[in-house]
Amino acid sequence: MERTHTILITGAGSGMGRGLCVELAGLGHRICVTDQNFDTANQTVQMLPEPDRGSAHKLDVTDANDIERFLADPACAEVDVLINNAGLQHVAPLEEFPQEKWDQLIDVMLTGTYRMTRAILPQMRRREFGRIIIIGSIHSLFASPYKTAYAAAKHGLTGFAKVMALETADTDITINLICPSYVRTPLVDNQIAAQAVAHNISHDEVIDQIMLKPMPKKTFITYPEIAAAAHYLIADAARNISGHSLMIDGGWSVQ
Ligand code: NAD
Repeated sequence: MERTHTILITGAGSGMGRGLCVELAGLGHRICVTDQNFDTANQTVQMLPEPDRGSAHKLDVTDANDIERFLADPACAEVDVLINNAGLQHVAPLEEFPQEKWDQLIDVMLTGTYRMTRAILPQMRRREFGRIIIIGSIHSLFASPYKTAYAAAKHGLTGFAKVMALETADTDITINLICPSYVRTPLVDNQIAAQAVAHNISHDEVIDQIMLKPMPKKTFITYPEIAAAAHYLIADAARNISGHSLMIDGGWSVQ
């Protein structure tokens, strides 16, 4: 029987973060459900198999005040597992890529992961245990046109995790990326619409010709698959796996 933990998930008011909360709470873990939007975080708590295993918190990973307030909350004083999931996408050719969008993507996904890891690491060190999971992407290792900021942030996270794996090697703390290709979340639904405009094709054509084309398995990844990978990385049995990127990509990366 695996130990249960207190798990903090960022960006947990939607999509993959919400799916992870539901699945991991189902395995008996306590979940700090955080999002920049308190109401959606609270909706996630109500969806947990046992809502009293979760607590909702407003936490914008770009806002140092939010992070400080969160750290002062006794309900979240002992986070064993941090899942850096908050993210967003913007799809445009570089010549039309607004700098404020570039800054926002890097700030949320790359710098946000730095901020959260830096904030939570001291309590993990004190208890000599911690698991840090970063939701990377197929775009942590591969490229697609019109996604410069997203790929730059997600590639940057692989370097961040490698360095942090070395810095935490003296204790039972690990840090790894889970790198999915496409999961059908609101973020992907928005991307389907944006790609349809960028390439001047229909939504079905975006799915067949762009999204699932590089995935030999030809199917979207699901939340239970991501949660199963997280469950494994959290386990004591994974204490020697650190600094890695676990691809869940339907065969995209082996071609
Ligand atoms: P989503 O849009 O459904 O959810 C993203 C969540 O992040 C939202 O609840 C949003 O409020 C939150 N968020 C955004 N900025 C934030 C901030 N500053 N502080 C706190 N929360 C913030 O998207 P999703 O598809 O569930 O994406 C979740 C993660 O998974 C992202 O990091 C994304 O890059 C990654 N990812 C998604 C896919 C996919 O196919 N959907 C594939 C690979 C990786």
